[in-house]
Amino acid sequence: MIFSPTADSGAHRDFSLLTKKRANHPLWRTGTMHIAVIGAGVAGLSCAQELSRAEHQVVVFDKGRSLGGRLATRRIGSHSFDLGAQYFTVRDQRFAAVVERAQQAGACSPWLGAIGALEEEQARIRSVEPVDRYVGTPGMNAFAKFMGHGLDVRSGCRVDRIEPVDKQLSLTGRAAPAGTTLGPSSNQTGAPGEVAAEFGTFDFVLVCLPPLQAASLIGHLSPALTAVTAQTEVWPCFAVGVVPSLADNTQSCPWDGLFVGRDEGRRSAIAWLARDSSKPGRPPGERWMLHASPAWSKASLALALEQVQATLLQEFARLLGNTAFEPEQVFTHRWAFAQVPRPQNQGAVLDTSAKLGLAGDWLAGGRVEGAYLSGLTLAEQLMAQP
Ligand SMILES: Cc1cc2nc3c(=O)[nH]c(=O)nc-3n(C[C@H](O)[C@H](O)[C@H](O)COP(=O)(O)OP(=O)(O)OC[C@H]3O[C@@H](n4cnc5c(N)ncnc54)[C@H](O)[C@@H]3O)c2cc1C
Repeated sequence: MIFSPTADSGAHRDFSLLTKKRANHPLWRTGTMHIAVIGAGVAGLSCAQELSRAEHQVVVFDKGRSLGGRLATRRIGSHSFDLGAQYFTVRDQRFAAVVERAQQAGACSPWLGAIGALEEEQARIRSVEPVDRYVGTPGMNAFAKFMGHGLDVRSGCRVDRIEPVDKQLSLTGRAAPAGTTLGPSSNQTGAPGEVAAEFGTFDFVLVCLPPLQAASLIGHLSPALTAVTAQTEVWPCFAVGVVPSLADNTQSCPWDGLFVGRDEGRRSAIAWLARDSSKPGRPPGERWMLHASPAWSKASLALALEQVQATLLQEFARLLGNTAFEPEQVFTHRWAFAQVPRPQNQGAVLDTSAKLGLAGDWLAGGRVEGAYLSGLTLAEQLMAQP
């Protein structure tokens, strides 16, 4: 029907050029604060950068093996896939400035792929209106690594508990040995090599996580912030990475990205598919990423990953006009918290008496740019306190 690197490029050194002299920072407040940021996604990283520029002592904790959160790149042998965010757009000039610097450092680039939208009812594909789309290079998380340069980021550290101690907050949780992944948060014994950890005490703790995860950490400390988290739903998403075989004939597909069923209620299980290999700076070869629609993902959460994979491959074959699909390699990932259908527009929220703040895409319009602006807003709110 359609027919009609490691991510760390090492080129991220110029973030240090952004460091402003303390006296020049418009929001400088007297006294250095010791601040913990939980979550090294785009929101946590922009928040930590802004606070570090004002010379506060900031430590960022993330349970992941690497930083970036939903700006994730999965490597399988010589193949790489953008597993979460597929590209980002730029509207705000503050985000434009960091994108510009990342571009100069080789950490992101415009994606000039041919993007279409399938109108199933009319069985036709229309070109979507042109808009500047950017991707991290050589993978999406290169942009996050650029943002994280110069920060004290502790990967493999999951915060499980925040407790008041005197006038500060102490963080405890679990830490994984370098290069390994932590088990699920409910697991008290943890993965092999994982240890209970005390992460220290801090003047402020800024929680830059999806709302449900944030609520589990702050529920006993700030009813006001917990109430904010309850207002926002985050949809799950299944992602399937595909290295097709020649027989699958994906090369003749003229589209590099295709919106299939963006809205709830559309028929297709697939919402988006992209020729990942059409993005700049990627390794050679043909690779595709399929994202299931939010409605289908929600309804299929109980399915085994193999079943999910089989359904999405079948649907991909149908869209391509194939009878079957026999890829060389394929994998499936489940995002429990993927995208925010109805994000808030508060920017960020701070509870100064609890010494806690919240940021994330869900508080600022959703998406990568929203996450960036939310983190920035939280840092500004904290530094603007008398
Ligand atoms: C499948 C998919 C497709 C998407 N497509 C697009 C797109 O095309 N364009 C776009 O702009 N946006 C897209 N998005 C949304 C975009 O990725 C997000 O808006 C953005 O990355 C959110 O950043 P964040 O910092 O708010 O949260 P996250 O990236 O979720 O960061 C939160 C971090 O917190 C960490 N964490 C969680 N709990 C703990 C804990 N207890 N202790 C320590 N660390 C913890 C996580 O490991 C994670 O790194 C997509 C997302 C997904 C999943």
